[in-house]
Amino acid sequence: MRKKEKTLIAVERLEKLYPQAICSLDYKDAFQLLIATRLSAQCTDKRVNLVTPQLFKEFPDALSMSNADIKRVEQLIKTCGLYKTKARDLVAIGRKIVSDFGGRVPDTIEELVTLSGVGRKTANLVCGDIYKKPAVVTDTHFIRICNRLGLVKTVNPIKVEMEMRKLLPDEKSNDFCHRTVLFGRDICCARSPKCNECVLSDICPKINV
Ligand code: SF4
Repeated sequence: MRKKEKTLIAVERLEKLYPQAICSLDYKDAFQLLIATRLSAQCTDKRVNLVTPQLFKEFPDALSMSNADIKRVEQLIKTCGLYKTKARDLVAIGRKIVSDFGGRVPDTIEELVTLSGVGRKTANLVCGDIYKKPAVVTDTHFIRICNRLGLVKTVNPIKVEMEMRKLLPDEKSNDFCHRTVLFGRDICCARSPKCNECVLSDICPKINV
């Protein structure tokens, strides 16, 4: 079976399995999603969702974050880990959005990755979830599942992103990424995938060799 055909089958079946394809981080706008995603590095979304209500109450937008006292930001996000670096990034993000982008979170990957601590994964998430552009978020679950299905043969996030952009329909790419996170947690787990319960088992080379 060709990769494109297999990708479309996976898209369709995961859509049925997880009709809701939403990000598990809580946010109200582009700025909040950007900040929450930066906080989620090496931290669970659940933990991030516990700290962001107070953080966004005190610093709801780029302008207020650009003027924030770093020590106060550190205090608010301490439980997220790497809090000193993250606090520095958050304030720097606020400042650059104000100084270079007129206070608005940019809507291209090229511009987003110029912000402190923002990589292509975060940039794709913002472009897909906020600006509804085609996006491939190369989460660890997504990379693992694409490899197991034989759609890619690399764990390099940029290569996975580029190859999957060609295989995924533009209008479904972002939702598919969200669904693979749920599927990777529930079924195609890193250590012991539940292949007997898997809706993709018939197209997965892992168990069909
Ligand atoms: S068959 Fe197993 S390895 Fe393949 S996608 Fe399903 S759970 Fe993952």
